[in-house]
Amino acid sequence: MKTSPHRPTKAVIALDAIAYNIEQVASQLPVGTLRMAVVKANAYGHGAVAVSHYIQGIVDAFGVSNIDEALELRETGITKDILVLGVTAYAAVSLAQEHDICLTVASSDWVHELLSLGQSLEGLRVHLKVDSGMGRIGFRSAAEVQQAQQALQIQGVRVEGIFTHFATADEVDTAYFDEQEQRFASLLAELDQVPALVHASNSATSIWHPETVLNMVRLGNIIYGMNPSGGLLELPFEIKAALSLESELVHVKKIASQQGVGYGKTYISQEEEYIGTLPLGYADGWTRDMQDFHVLVDGVFCPIVGRVSMDQLTIRLPQAYPLGTKVVLIGTSGQEAIDVTQVADYRGTINYEVVCLLSDRIPRVYRK
Ligand SMILES: *Cc1c(COP(=O)(O)O)cnc(C)c1O
Repeated sequence: MKTSPHRPTKAVIALDAIAYNIEQVASQLPVGTLRMAVVKANAYGHGAVAVSHYIQGIVDAFGVSNIDEALELRETGITKDILVLGVTAYAAVSLAQEHDICLTVASSDWVHELLSLGQSLEGLRVHLKVDSGMGRIGFRSAAEVQQAQQALQIQGVRVEGIFTHFATADEVDTAYFDEQEQRFASLLAELDQVPALVHASNSATSIWHPETVLNMVRLGNIIYGMNPSGGLLELPFEIKAALSLESELVHVKKIASQQGVGYGKTYISQEEEYIGTLPLGYADGWTRDMQDFHVLVDGVFCPIVGRVSMDQLTIRLPQAYPLGTKVVLIGTSGQEAIDVTQVADYRGTINYEVVCLLSDRIPRVYRK
């Protein structure tokens, strides 16, 4: 989607907050723990290029979901290690070699298929993925890992890391987490040769299971200033939200009592009311289920009334405000704030999804 910089709706990103959050998590980890910043999905909507360039001096590697995200970082001059966390198409493996991008190897079938193509794999860098209970991608047995490792090494592939991913690190009950940790540990113990990098910790694991740190952590959600458990588990340190979503009143009118507002006439004014219109809607990722939630105008909560349209939404104002008045959808205004987790809770989802869904139409503006 085309970015719309001339429209007064923008996501303001505080890059220094991201750097601050990285140092906050790191302060709880053993000295020397390597830091991978996970910047997939356009850095959770914060802008992968700007974020990566800003934090490259304080992290050791970047994690992305696919090779195109990795190429974007390389093309803009990121030289640190980049690991593709998902499965890569065979046809793109040579791009990884060419641009020094590390791939994840997650199954024997993938290895067999790649080898059968007969292309040179010399110098390709990989991490092996172990499925210790997430049930998504990854090897399930030490024998399979070992076979894949050997088959790749014979071809000149550098097997630099091995990792797993936890399904329940952000939950109160740790039984399943412990089970996964055990499985990963026993699989590692069975290997003749353990790759140099061993990692298992996403944000939640780094925060609430710091004893599980092996030699690298993969930090996503937390670095953007969100609590990966929503409000379930308390953070042991302070974080700063990196993203604010702001817009402006582009239209204000006084309507009489008993007037319909929006598609379906789902809102009807109860008295003479001021209705303001904002230039964003569900095509921006401000989904229709945000109806009846609120925004902040001049430090005052104002309800979203009527249906959220594709490109516009309407709010009820306590008084007339001039056109161009700033409206905050996520962030602070006066003494009040709307946190991304509150938006997620209202929508019945997680904070990750709220920021990832903010569409490319919204320009990202960077504040250092
Ligand atoms: C997305 C992802 C992460 C980061 O997860 P957060 O919960 O955002 O910290 C880490 N590891 C893998 C494999 C991932 O896919």
